[in-house]
Amino acid sequence: MQIALVGIGKIARDQHIPALAASPDWQLAATVSQSGAGVDGVESFDDFAQMLAQRPQIKVVSLCMPPVPRFAYAQAALLAGRHVMLEKPPGATLAEVHALQALAAARGLSLYTTWHSRMALAVAQAKAWLADKQVLRGHISWREDVRKWHPGQDWVFEPGGMGVFDPGINALSIVTEILPNPVHLTAATLTFPANRQTPIAADLYFSGGLTAAFDWRQLGPQTWDIEIDTDAGAMALRLGGNRLEINGVEVAGEASIMGEYPALYARMADLVARGQSDVDLAPMVHVADAMTLGRRLETEAFHF
Ligand code: NAP
Repeated sequence: MQIALVGIGKIARDQHIPALAASPDWQLAATVSQSGAGVDGVESFDDFAQMLAQRPQIKVVSLCMPPVPRFAYAQAALLAGRHVMLEKPPGATLAEVHALQALAAARGLSLYTTWHSRMALAVAQAKAWLADKQVLRGHISWREDVRKWHPGQDWVFEPGGMGVFDPGINALSIVTEILPNPVHLTAATLTFPANRQTPIAADLYFSGGLTAAFDWRQLGPQTWDIEIDTDAGAMALRLGGNRLEINGVEVAGEASIMGEYPALYARMADLVARGQSDVDLAPMVHVADAMTLGRRLETEAFHF
């Protein structure tokens, strides 16, 4: 199937382009870039409406721009009869994703709200291990250096950019996938730099004894860990879901995240073939609840 990639920035280059190049399902038939970025040997457009009008044979678009501008692109694509794959988080608000879901359903098109961390190597195994256990407590530690992973990306600190929830929602996408019973947020503390609109750190408290610490000011070793104690032992997912430990012993995984995007594109091919959508907003509900319920703290100004 032919696919167009829109928004040729960090994640398109790091993950989408290599995943599509290696995929047996997809041919990257066009790129759309406001800034004139592209891929050697692939037709490029600087105007999305023009690509939609001139290339009717491209039935699927994958949207890689930040969440705030993404809705208008997704809506235009669906109105033009295209299947749509959305980067995470799937939108700037929950309601706009519900609107896209309704539009896709009305037009008989596939919409996929991707959560790449759910495709991490050890997530399915962790889910299977937890399925028959009682969760007693859990803790998420997601600590990384924003300057390293989002260099100069001021949009993450603008309204709708989600701040530290941009990576933190990856952890939430994993726990909403693996926990045998759903949890809900009961309290949160959000730390905002004095000069920014979104938090740089967050502490979250959920029902069922789950807590989370997200921090974008981490220097030195970076941590993407989820530790869960159950009535039948302890489980830890490390490296963003790519390594699994049971009772302190590593049982699965490797130090690579390069399997996540190939798995997302395989899933999208399957959804289109079956005429289905996959829209799950559970991780984003927790972020919205934290923004609703969270206590605001202020910290020193942040500059890249
Ligand atoms: P980015 O590099 O800052 O931006 C991606 C591209 O989006 C830009 O290069 C630009 O592409 C386009 N764009 C930017 N502003 C736009 C606007 N106002 N209207 C239309 N297009 C615009 O961001 P990113 O790191 O790739 O992140 C994009 C999405 O991927 C985010 O939702 C993020 O959460 C997700 N993601 C990022 C990472 C990561 O490691 N960075 C990992 C996983 C997921 P053109 O100039 O080509 O138009």
